Amino acid sequence: MSNESFNHPFCDYNCIRRLEKELDTHGGLVIGFDFDNTIFDVHNRGGNYKDIIDTLKECKDLGWTLCLYTSEPDEDWLKWKIDYCKHFGIEPDYINESPLLKGTKKPFFSILLDDRAGLQSAYLILQNIINYARSKSN
Ligand SMILES: [Mg+2]
Repeated sequence: MSNESFNHPFCDYNCIRRLEKELDTHGGLVIGFDFDNTIFDVHNRGGNYKDIIDTLKECKDLGWTLCLYTSEPDEDWLKWKIDYCKHFGIEPDYINESPLLKGTKKPFFSILLDDRAGLQSAYLILQNIINYARSKSN
């Protein structure tokens, strides 16, 4: 399937336009992110996790809200994961908890970075928005 045949109202292009509007309206975005296999090589298979970590750091530097969504039942391991994030300058504002929406179990985010949710598309969309935000602040 080519990109041209994907005619959904929220194709990547329209996702970028929507996020630009949200950024213009709210002055910031809420970035949901996963831990295992998104920013951490949980199975020690090697590979580049730096691009996602650097992108999250850019979002943090822009003052946007970071929400870590991770399934971690062990409190000590959860603390280790948070410390790992802090080490890279991406201290989460929320951990397995959503800002804005109360009374619903659906995690809230403007965009989600997750190895099981089209990570490359989300990364490219987010890079577009970061560039947009930086161009407006110059
Ligand atoms: Mg994962």
